[in-house]
Amino acid sequence: MPKPKPPSTPSIPQTPSFPPSLPPSLASPLPLPTLIVFDLDYTLWPFWVDTHASPPLKPLLSSTTPPYTHAARDKHGEEFSFYPHVPAILAALDAHPRVRVGVASRTGAPEVARDLLRMLQIPWFDVPVPAPLDGSTTDDASSSGSTSKKAREKEKAREKALNKERGAGRGKARKAIEFLGHMEIYPGSKKKHFTRLRETTGVEFGEMLFFDDEKRNREVEELGVTMWWVPDGLDGGEFERGVGEWRRRRGVVC
Ligand SMILES: [Mg+2]
Repeated sequence: MPKPKPPSTPSIPQTPSFPPSLPPSLASPLPLPTLIVFDLDYTLWPFWVDTHASPPLKPLLSSTTPPYTHAARDKHGEEFSFYPHVPAILAALDAHPRVRVGVASRTGAPEVARDLLRMLQIPWFDVPVPAPLDGSTTDDASSSGSTSKKAREKEKAREKALNKERGAGRGKARKAIEFLGHMEIYPGSKKKHFTRLRETTGVEFGEMLFFDDEKRNREVEELGVTMWWVPDGLDGGEFERGVGEWRRRRGVVC
């Protein structure tokens, strides 16, 4: 059942920041979903883009300069942005070497949604380098006494490469659309969206975690996807609970 329209324009934070702490699951060496997929309306942002936003949209000055709080204004003067924790979560996922990100939205206004994702900026966050995978160091560490040196060198090289990659955009905000590698945006059952995501990414359904505010979309679990219901939108806590559920179903003890 559709949600009632909220009584007023949602409040938008004045300073983007990480959730109280970076989602710990991303810093952990425990398994993570290979593909994390987000719904848009009432999951990443607090509105329905097809009924609340009236094009043409225009980026606001504050969307391209610090603190990057407001993304766009529509022809009626309404302003649109993400839920408060979303920019930091997207930045952390973007920096993570083991996770890819996608969108599955059934909005009837895919072009408006894409326009907004081009206007919304993700500020620069100095995201910590995730912990290495178990296998990347333990093999070396068990081979001989000088290993730890070898393992350290390997880890150093990996960090150097990662920092070099991130260095190019250091300090700069980037368009949100650049953080969402795989987008399926069109009306209809989300089983179709996920079937397409399976084809385009090559990722198995069981390796996907999906965040959505509408229970009806739980039907994607018939494919083997794990869905985490976020009735009040995505934040750092819901992100952790979603990853926890995905791990629980795979028998991972956290
Ligand atoms: Mg939704």
